[in-house]
Amino acid sequence: MLTQLIDYTAAEKINLSLPSLRVDNFSESLLEKIKKVRKSGLTFAAEGGTQRLRDVINKNVSEEEIMNTCRIAFEGGYSSVKLYFMMGHPTETDEDIIGIADLAQRIVDLFYSIENRPKGRGVQVSVSCATFVPKPFTPFEFEPQDTREMIEHKQKLLLDSVKTKKIKVSYHDPNVSMLEVILAKGDRRLCPSIYAAWKKGCKFDSWEEHYKFDKWLEAFSDCGIDPSFYANRRFGYDEILPWDHLDYFVSKDFLIRENQKAHRAETTPNCRLKCAGCGVNKAVGRNCF
Ligand code: SF4
Repeated sequence: MLTQLIDYTAAEKINLSLPSLRVDNFSESLLEKIKKVRKSGLTFAAEGGTQRLRDVINKNVSEEEIMNTCRIAFEGGYSSVKLYFMMGHPTETDEDIIGIADLAQRIVDLFYSIENRPKGRGVQVSVSCATFVPKPFTPFEFEPQDTREMIEHKQKLLLDSVKTKKIKVSYHDPNVSMLEVILAKGDRRLCPSIYAAWKKGCKFDSWEEHYKFDKWLEAFSDCGIDPSFYANRRFGYDEILPWDHLDYFVSKDFLIRENQKAHRAETTPNCRLKCAGCGVNKAVGRNCF
């Protein structure tokens, strides 16, 4: 039905925005398919600037895979890549932030080392950094979010660590991420402040021009809520969390184990390689694979 309504002449002019690509299974054949839709650059989700941090977040992607992916893109005619990172992951240090700039620099160097790179064009590596939002139902549900001051320090450090105009850095407003984590991890005591914020005109908050963080802060204050209680506090393993009554088959013990492993920078293999015992198999009464 929808396809009948599309004007194909107009559709050819639409800019397609593909989601970030995995770096561990990118291939020449996938690149050929992507090239069939018009797209000026490719976005890869690297997530962390160092191997240690990628292990903490269980990204299971090596620098070799990231470089190989970029090589395929450059040899396939692309001269710009966008790398997507999160800033503020648990255990993150300044070294991990500098690692983002170093990785981007190595990708710039890689471009110029490739003989059959796109000629007559310079390389552009875009680094996009979002602020990490620890979410319920994940091994990081216990984690505090970085404070605004910590994120601003990291953003400045990243900008200072980039030494070439071929690397462009962009990042999100940490105030948006702070509201996200408060709403994600808040409990029923938060309800009056959400209503109060709405009465103060907080609507369509996802649209930057309508986002009024000061009004949210006013609403929290009016209702006696300390936002940092939800956003910047470590939740205890033995604490009853606001979402603990919801059963989605993954056990809290598993999330605690994974959280502890994350702090040791130990990765967990893909389920298809080895079951980590999250509890889903018990709920469905059979092996998952
Ligand atoms: S294989 Fe199934 S039970 Fe094991 S970790 Fe994966 S989803 Fe959980």
